[in-house]
Amino acid sequence: MIPKFPRAAASYESFRRWIFSSARPSVRVAEPRDSSEGELEIQARWFGGEFGRDFVGVDGERIEIVQFGHWNHAAGPDFTEAAVKIDGRLLAGPIELDLDVRDWESHGHGVNAAFEETVLHVFTDGPSWNRFYTKSSSHRRICQLQLPQYAWSQGPPDFLPEAFPGRCLSPLSRMTDPEVDSLLLSAAQYRLQNKAGRFRVMAGVTSREQALFQGVAEALGFRSNKTAMAILAQRCPVEELSAMSPIDSEARLFGVAGFLDHELVAERASADGKVYLRELWDRWWKVRGDVEPLRSRAIPWCFSGNRPLNHPQRRVGALAAIAAHWELISPLWEKEVNNLERNVNNSLKNLNHPFWENHYTLQADPASGRVRLLGRDRLRDLLGNVVFPGAIGMAGEAGCTGQEELLWSQYLALRNVDSNQKLRRAGLRLFGPDEKRRKLFTAYYHQQQGLLQIYEDFCLEDVSDCEHCPFPEQLLQWQDIDRRSGASRGRSEAVSLQ
Ligand code: SF4
Repeated sequence: MIPKFPRAAASYESFRRWIFSSARPSVRVAEPRDSSEGELEIQARWFGGEFGRDFVGVDGERIEIVQFGHWNHAAGPDFTEAAVKIDGRLLAGPIELDLDVRDWESHGHGVNAAFEETVLHVFTDGPSWNRFYTKSSSHRRICQLQLPQYAWSQGPPDFLPEAFPGRCLSPLSRMTDPEVDSLLLSAAQYRLQNKAGRFRVMAGVTSREQALFQGVAEALGFRSNKTAMAILAQRCPVEELSAMSPIDSEARLFGVAGFLDHELVAERASADGKVYLRELWDRWWKVRGDVEPLRSRAIPWCFSGNRPLNHPQRRVGALAAIAAHWELISPLWEKEVNNLERNVNNSLKNLNHPFWENHYTLQADPASGRVRLLGRDRLRDLLGNVVFPGAIGMAGEAGCTGQEELLWSQYLALRNVDSNQKLRRAGLRLFGPDEKRRKLFTAYYHQQQGLLQIYEDFCLEDVSDCEHCPFPEQLLQWQDIDRRSGASRGRSEAVSLQ
């Protein structure tokens, strides 16, 4: 019998809490802000509804975000036309979101009349030694909200080099394969539940379709353009795109992405490229004045370090193709599907686009052969990171435990995706040079996810070169939890049946 959903996640969660509560105070339970997470990423997460809408302000005010407003494409606060209830009083106006509370002054907002009407100043960090107030140019005090997820100093940087074996290598090597597998499975379920929760909150704040659309865009953006794609999805909501013709919606996506510079159209491109660009431009220039963001608000695409297949323009092309066939995707979180993986593969693997299955960028000459819009790994990642977590989250919300368990068992059968740097480091640190074991414990998608969870919980939290990491000693505790729950026994029986 496969360990039930969500019991395995609860085992890992109690294990994790137990470790952190008995560890030295420098070890934290809360998630640190990823050191690479910038202001725009936090703004995108805020606007996507990821932090929820109910908060307590710095001075204890009850804050409810009634409406998140709109991304500001011009100068001034980050979000305009927002509505916020503070201690029951409804205020309409802009919201500013900064990384540090002191940015309000250092960016000159306190003397800038464009910020006068701001109703809420949201931030992540601030000085611990004294209080800093947010005031408008007329010295009106503006309500402050420090996001609770970041109510302490920023976490340590991800400083690890391409990995050396950690201190936990030895105790892990003494554990049986089913015990290690059970640990990874529980950590994976814990991670899956967190993702499911994130989509549930986002869907509650926006809509299921918009949360799904943003999730799909993030998955297409891969690591380096995840936030850029999330912002694009927020600036081009799926409800608006669905009301347009496919070519209008495509032009909107490319225009808002900032890829339709007029010079680009006139520049040298292949013959079919010129035709395609002209088609997009002819639609874009008509709406450009209304929807194009200021240069200073342009989406920060990352062009370096991507394989040609993952060039941001191709990713936007794939999103445009998905938006044009939205009816295939939109029901995935709504209805019960017998085999989610097969359903998604059948719907998306043959997704086509006359230009993007032959080109790597807008200006490139045609490729020598057909290039699929969504390769095997992107599809698997879309399934594991978006479709399954969202579907499980929605089934849980509806109280459909049978459906949750069915989805969980399907999730366990997903095979791995290509290794990435983080996964490689995690494998090397926990399993050392034993390649056979590393392969054994990364053969399935959920194992990779469990490994990443442990890596983020422990390796990225450790700044003592493993010396103070509590994980190795507490693995015995895991074996106890595992024996009592019989999880590894159940899992090994299930694996042997597959
Ligand atoms: S930091 Fe902890 S979990 Fe990571 S390799 Fe070292 S001992 Fe293992």
